[in-house]
Amino acid sequence: MTNSSFDALIIGGGPAGCSCALWLKHLGLKPLIIEKSDRLGGLQNESPYPNIWILGQSYRNGRAFAASVEKQIKVEKIATQFRAQVESLSFSQANQKFVANLSGFKKSKTLEASFIVLATGVKPRTGGLTPSPEVLIGPGDHIETASYRGKRVAILGGGDNAFENYQFIKKKKPKSIKIFARNVRAQFSFVKKVKSGDLRVGQYDVDIDGKKVNGEVFDSIVVMYGWQGVNALEGIVSLNMRNGFVETDYLRRTSHENIYAIGEVSQSAHPCCVTAMADGIIAAKDIQTRIDQVRVAQQLKLK
Ligand SMILES: Cc1cc2nc3c(=O)[nH]c(=O)nc-3n(C[C@H](O)[C@H](O)[C@H](O)COP(=O)(O)OP(=O)(O)OC[C@H]3O[C@@H](n4cnc5c(N)ncnc54)[C@H](O)[C@@H]3O)c2cc1C
Repeated sequence: MTNSSFDALIIGGGPAGCSCALWLKHLGLKPLIIEKSDRLGGLQNESPYPNIWILGQSYRNGRAFAASVEKQIKVEKIATQFRAQVESLSFSQANQKFVANLSGFKKSKTLEASFIVLATGVKPRTGGLTPSPEVLIGPGDHIETASYRGKRVAILGGGDNAFENYQFIKKKKPKSIKIFARNVRAQFSFVKKVKSGDLRVGQYDVDIDGKKVNGEVFDSIVVMYGWQGVNALEGIVSLNMRNGFVETDYLRRTSHENIYAIGEVSQSAHPCCVTAMADGIIAAKDIQTRIDQVRVAQQLKLK
């Protein structure tokens, strides 16, 4: 195998992609992580909150968890290409290999691989609204660092993020805070903490220029409409999508039999670090099984 030849190109270096790379390496294969930013750990880099949900990892915040992911990938000497994205991809049926061109370099870089693993996570749904200093879309650092003191805040959305951020913003002493939810899907423990009068359930109208919700003026509008998958291969390879996510089977294979989608880019029953990392393991194990089947068949032919 040459320097530009890999068993799998993993697009995205979050928990899903890094877990897949780690397992592929320990299963005796050669992965490359292609990450568009300059760090590994994905969305966890944007979480200053303690991640109490990973067994054995509690009391670390998201950023510390992301740093530990990056450190492990470095220690394992797993090949990583930062500040890079896949620009084009072709698949040869004859030798069952992809040829990928990466952008982000002075000269285009060409790589060869048997499998592609899409692990590019999600982006917040905007509901057609444009972000601005007064219109904050999706959870993360920008919500943490904004000032709400003395402001009238509207939160749009009925899921966990809307209700969790209600609690967070409330501590920052806004003048008023209201959640507008077409329906409520958040967990009971979040919903029960909302003061009566701070929650409006049902249809509502947003006038973003006038910063009005149902005719009432707000200083900040926080939009928590959930997520959609980032399909980095959109316009390059046609993959079946469902509800804004890349569709996969139980082995995380997409509609292209040699392309996998893992973590949040494919719709998970419950997206979090552990399910993302578990997806990486499932794809890695299936890739190893398929590569070994070919190797065993070749070995038997030789005898
Ligand atoms: C504020 C916040 C707090 C959270 N708290 C918790 C928690 O406490 N516990 C928990 O379990 N989960 C938590 N989560 C969710 C958790 O971070 C995600 O479930 C997890 O990171 C998903 O992993 P992933 O690898 O699928 O995607 P991501 O982490 O989103 O990683 C995707 C990676 O792909 C890269 N990428 C995207 N497009 C391209 C491209 N075209 N080419 C190359 N690379 C690309 C991105 O830069 C990123 O590094 C939190 C999320 C947020 C936002």
